[in-house]
Amino acid sequence: MTDPAVTVTDRASYILAANPGIMTLDGTNTWILREPGAEHSVVVDPGPVDDGHLQAVLEASRPVGLVLLTHRHFDHTESLGRFAELTGAPSRSFDPEFCREAPPLADGETIVVDGLELEVIATPGHTTDSACLRLPADDSLLSGDTVLGRGTTVIAHPDGVLGPYLDSLAHIRELIEEGLVARILPGHGPVVDDPAAVVDFYLEHRAERLEQVRAAVDSGATTPHEVVVAVYQDVDESLWGAAELSVAAQLDYLRT
Ligand SMILES: [Zn+2]
Repeated sequence: MTDPAVTVTDRASYILAANPGIMTLDGTNTWILREPGAEHSVVVDPGPVDDGHLQAVLEASRPVGLVLLTHRHFDHTESLGRFAELTGAPSRSFDPEFCREAPPLADGETIVVDGLELEVIATPGHTTDSACLRLPADDSLLSGDTVLGRGTTVIAHPDGVLGPYLDSLAHIRELIEEGLVARILPGHGPVVDDPAAVVDFYLEHRAERLEQVRAAVDSGATTPHEVVVAVYQDVDESLWGAAELSVAAQLDYLRT
């Protein structure tokens, strides 16, 4: 059997979970981080409950010093209880519900595990508890679902909020500008090697959609569904349910 772990940087590799879908793209990327020569790893987003996936992650990550969650969504956290049981490792997230034997994350905090250094950056928007993790030694940013490897992310109203999301994208853009992030390691899809272009595309896409939603409201659309029918003609109908959540977030943003 081939090794399922894909090495991306000196410190980061990932294992793709077998949960492809319209929201998860190819599936969830479970990231395994380890300082070169060190023993303990950090596992980010253990992913769905799937024995094959958990086994592969265990083999690549043991012994695990810490489990981190980028946000509360099921496709990232479902296996947390099982994984914590198998590894005995503590876990941390902005949402206290996913913390075991460790405190919630704090914005700006530096975490060190067996020599591996990570900076915690609060990036609310996709969800209120979304976190990005910067791996300074590799100029990389683990982005969870805040920035994906392909397409754009859903702002799942009411947990997802557009104003904070735009601020989070602007913050990531600044880190790229300052030379602190050369690559994005996303929760779904391929690694992003041109992060400035991708974040600019996200910002433009959001501004454009917001204009379209504003125009649809001006022409009389009132419900998220009516707005989606008017605005998302270019998007496959299988995505309209997700689009309605994003539209609800946009309507909320326009109202405030
Ligand atoms: Zn996800």
